[in-house]
Amino acid sequence: MRLETDPYLARYAARVTGMSASEIRALFAVASRPEIVSFAGGMPDTSALDLEAVEQVVAAVIRDSGAVALQYGGGQGRPELREQLVQVMRLQGVPAHPDELVVTVGGQQALELIASCFVDPGDVVLAEGPTYVGAIGALTSLQADVRHVPMDEAGMRVDLLEEQLQALEAEGRRAKYLYLIPNHQNPAGVSLSLERRRRVAELAERHDLLVVEDDPYGLLGFDGEVLPSLRSMIPERVIYVGTMSKLFAPGVRTGWIAAPAPVRDKLILLREAADLCPSNLTQMIVERWLQTQPWVEQIKRFRQLYAEKAGVMLDTMAAELPAEVHWTRPQGAFYVWLTVPAGIDTSDLLAKAIAHRVAYVPGRGFFADSSGGDHARLCFSFPSTDRIREGVVRLGELLNAELELVRAVYGEHAPQLRTRRGGRATGIGG
Ligand code: PMP
Repeated sequence: MRLETDPYLARYAARVTGMSASEIRALFAVASRPEIVSFAGGMPDTSALDLEAVEQVVAAVIRDSGAVALQYGGGQGRPELREQLVQVMRLQGVPAHPDELVVTVGGQQALELIASCFVDPGDVVLAEGPTYVGAIGALTSLQADVRHVPMDEAGMRVDLLEEQLQALEAEGRRAKYLYLIPNHQNPAGVSLSLERRRRVAELAERHDLLVVEDDPYGLLGFDGEVLPSLRSMIPERVIYVGTMSKLFAPGVRTGWIAAPAPVRDKLILLREAADLCPSNLTQMIVERWLQTQPWVEQIKRFRQLYAEKAGVMLDTMAAELPAEVHWTRPQGAFYVWLTVPAGIDTSDLLAKAIAHRVAYVPGRGFFADSSGGDHARLCFSFPSTDRIREGVVRLGELLNAELELVRAVYGEHAPQLRTRRGGRATGIGG
């Protein structure tokens, strides 16, 4: 085998030198084959959109304002769109004024701009453990020191957040911010309880902490319930991130940040340095979608669809997965977080899973320190209900076979195989 060395290695910036594509990325290329049921990608079911309505919206944008749509725009994003986005936030009870918003290329650019705005190499950023893989990517590419706060079924353990804040203060350090996904978290599939939201708000005041509230899924609660946002509790301390990816379509790459004015101004400068301005074309498509289409109804349709898929997912898991496996029970959005017994490593298992025609994301991707080998994220939003059943049956076969193997190898010395207490499948762990 010929070892390829990168001839550009000596020229890269220090923060880029350590970056490399994981083996898992290569496996995912295979996982998109049609015979594989993929619970891997966090993709909305865009087939639930009324494509004729979208076509009309796109055609109308070009017909009525083509020259503007195809022109450059301002770095903050179109005022007309920002007014519409404030209405989306209002539906969720999140207060905002259009002037406070910066339109971004999806929530992902928002997370990257916020990280660039605050993080110098070595700076501490606190985040739930596990947390969104794209946030870890943005933070680690800037050499942040990401420290995780463990979670349970009620979201981030706020008692442990307090401990970390105190420990940092004892070291004479301060976290640049706390990154939090309070609603239907990716990947854990749980929400931060109301009581804990209040505690986070109190702790933020007491410890002079900034909070980045990333909220792609707040309107996707299966029963339509919406808990108060942190922005509504401590607006001066919160930088709020929204996105149309899960409420309309990720293909329009439209997200936004609502931030206190001084931070907003820095973010606009950073965004202008990155890409000048968001696309006028996609902004105007989203704007017109929100102005002329029944978007609240569409969100309701998404909610009902995902609730149905979650039901099939959880029922089939209860029937098919071994008793030693635990999982969370989402009340909204896309994700179930799986915990497997000691002796099984979900990263090692992925190649076998793909050979068995089912895919997931191994837990390690959701921790900056690559812990989480006993977890996996299963995303049920995209496959049809029939495919979900098939995929879970395959996963059950795989996990049962793997457990047999663990028992055969270790015999009576098998690592403690945890069993589900009282038949309820819960537990986030690590
Ligand atoms: N934050 C979280 C928690 C997400 O799950 C995602 C997408 N999966 C994003 C941000 C970014 O999404 P987008 O760039 O499509 O808005």
